[in-house]
This record gives sequence, structure tokens and C-alpha cells, in this order.
Amino acid sequence: MSTPDGARILVVEDDPGMSRALKRNLSGHGFQVRAAGTGRSGLEEFRRWHPDTVLLDLGLPDVDGLELVHDIRATASTPIVILSVRGAEQEKVKALNLGADDYLTKPFGVDELLARIRVALRHAARPASGNAPLFEAGEVRVDLERRRLQVGGRDVHLTPTMPTRC
Ligand code: CA
Repeated sequence: MSTPDGARILVVEDDPGMSRALKRNLSGHGFQVRAAGTGRSGLEEFRRWHPDTVLLDLGLPDVDGLELVHDIRATASTPIVILSVRGAEQEKVKALNLGADDYLTKPFGVDELLARIRVALRHAARPASGNAPLFEAGEVRVDLERRRLQVGGRDVHLTPTMPTRC
């Protein structure tokens, strides 16, 4: 299992306990994490920091999380993983329709969280924002910004000096 080095995760979640737990777990697995407790500060942080993935709680104190999905999608294709509560099927569907990539239903375990984030980061290798140098030839895709090589949709790990670690 690999964790992309220092990938930036923005957590938008108003529950302090949940936010702390996410921060602790994700930092412990090598991610850079920033947290915002409101939709407004989440959007500001998103624009300032350009995270690689957003974890977004839909029930925020100031704006509807769905609005945030919409606002982020207006300018960026950054993966968004919804943090939703059980029984909120309609909200989840709306969020996915608005362009969210995936969702986690609370309560969820660390392993599932990490798995979803890895999926989200893989999806981020799609040609997207236009500012990422990306080359494609047949099955081969090179993303210079993320220093990532994919062949046939699968990550190929490049180690510059230690081929035995492949
Ligand atoms: Ca909430």
C-alpha cells in the first residue's frame, strides 16, 4: 500500500471530535492535513491551499455542504469525498450528482477512510485543471505535477536510484 507523499487533504467538518480524529489519522499516514469548521472557511482554505482531496461534511453550520460541492466544482476538479450520516441517501445522491467523487458513511474506520482517499487521489490523475503537465501516449500517462506514471490506468512506482524497491 502506498501513500502519495505529502498529499494535501482539506477536511471540512464542524464536529471538533471528528475533525481532530481525521487530522490525527491522516497526518499519521503521511498526509498534510488542514481542517475548516465552516463552509465559508473551507472554501477560503480550498482556494488558498489547493488541496489534492477534500473531505466534506454535508451538515455544516453556515452553508449547505452541497453548495460547497457546487462552488468547488465551478472552478476545480479536485476530488471531493463526502462524509455523510447513515440515512442521508438523498443528500449523498445530490452530492454525487453535483460532482462529488465518493462518500463515507459515518461511522467509518481508518482503513476505509484511507482506501477512499487513495481512490480519490487516483482519480485526480485524470487530466483536469489544465495547469498540470500531463502527457499521454496510448496506455501510458505521465503526470509531472504529481510525479506519477500510470500504465493502463495503474500506478507504476518509480524509484530513481533503488530499482529493487519496485
Ligand atoms: Ca456536521
